Amino acid sequence: MNAWPSLAGTDMVAEYGGTTTQDNANILDQVNLITFTDNEYNFPSAVLAVGIATSFTEPTYFNGRFYRPGQIVNADMIFNPAKKFKTPSIGGTGTDLFSTALHEAGHLYGLSHTAIKSSTMFFVLPPGQEAGTLEADDELSYLKAYPNDATLGSANRIGGTVVSGLTGEPVPGAIIFAIDVASGDTASCEFTLPDGSYLLLGLPDGDYLRELVRRFNSEQEFCNGVLGSKRIGSRQSLG
Ligand SMILES: [Zn+2]
Repeated sequence: MNAWPSLAGTDMVAEYGGTTTQDNANILDQVNLITFTDNEYNFPSAVLAVGIATSFTEPTYFNGRFYRPGQIVNADMIFNPAKKFKTPSIGGTGTDLFSTALHEAGHLYGLSHTAIKSSTMFFVLPPGQEAGTLEADDELSYLKAYPNDATLGSANRIGGTVVSGLTGEPVPGAIIFAIDVASGDTASCEFTLPDGSYLLLGLPDGDYLRELVRRFNSEQEFCNGVLGSKRIGSRQSLG
């Protein structure tokens, strides 16, 4: 759980609350539970575990305090009781427990899946312990969610708005990849918001190409394109 909050430049703290005899997770009881024995959650057969963060869509008074829209009220990690997990020290058969937990912990902290396959937050778990370390894209997603004040003030920003060339309307849900020109690697990615805007925060100094992948109505149909023809420095700022 601490691999995420210990990232540099972030200011969220996770505290271990001890053990409990509670088996089943409850998304509103404000017990942030990690359980291997939930017999109520309905797992699809291919799913190893789920991380569920609960928030409200509008300002809500709950259990004696106000919560902002999107503010996490409760978080639970539920491992599929039908699956087997292993650790390097205990061994056995099954899936690497730490890799699975690291991914689900990202969800508990409010992160969603990324489109970058090498990231811990990609929705398919790579074999072995490959997801047991956070990649640059994972770290930037977390940094954007929980930056400390100093980081927020000084971090590199690349942002913009994607609009349809046909209608001029904003395009939500498009994926923007930031590709490091020097290495050719995809450094980070971000989805556009309902108003078509996106913001990549905290990329290291360098030149990046922004590649747009827009998903159309059909699930299979993708359209690739590079946004703009010139390289952009990561110091470019929207203010
Ligand atoms: Zn996931």
